[in-house]
Amino acid sequence: MAAIHNDEQPKYFSGEKLYTPHEVSLFLGLSVESLRLYEREGLIVPLKLESGHRRFTEEDIEWITCIQRQIHENKLNFAGIRYLLAMLPCHEMKPCCLEDQMNCPAGDKSCRPCWNFENTPCRQKGENCRTCVVYQQVLNVENLKQILQVKFKCD
Ligand code: SF4
Repeated sequence: MAAIHNDEQPKYFSGEKLYTPHEVSLFLGLSVESLRLYEREGLIVPLKLESGHRRFTEEDIEWITCIQRQIHENKLNFAGIRYLLAMLPCHEMKPCCLEDQMNCPAGDKSCRPCWNFENTPCRQKGENCRTCVVYQQVLNVENLKQILQVKFKCD
């Protein structure tokens, strides 16, 4: 369950401390607009309250820090990061049935990660990308590096 049915800005969710976009922007020294841009570009999937307000966990902050390093130090652009994320073997990680694999637009040749598509079979069934095992791997940056066997310089 990703949506929180309480609009009173809870400080914790599933035992994790939650941060507002403003807090994240102060902590990381980037603008709230940059956070929105990362979301629009399909790099992050924030936790959403029922009101639509975004919240971030410490794992999100670690991933956003990693994104910043890819952009500023490794000179990747948004498309390059999406391309790397598209290498996640989402059909194996879920795992999806053969029928869903055949009907999924996020196939092996995709240049975007599966959560960038509105019409994947899992999303059509109402599954939530934020809590999906695939996106959760992204939030574990060490695992992500191992899965992709790519040297994300996040240390
Ligand atoms: S629920 Fe979302 S993140 Fe999970 S496999 Fe489907 S599209 Fe990808």
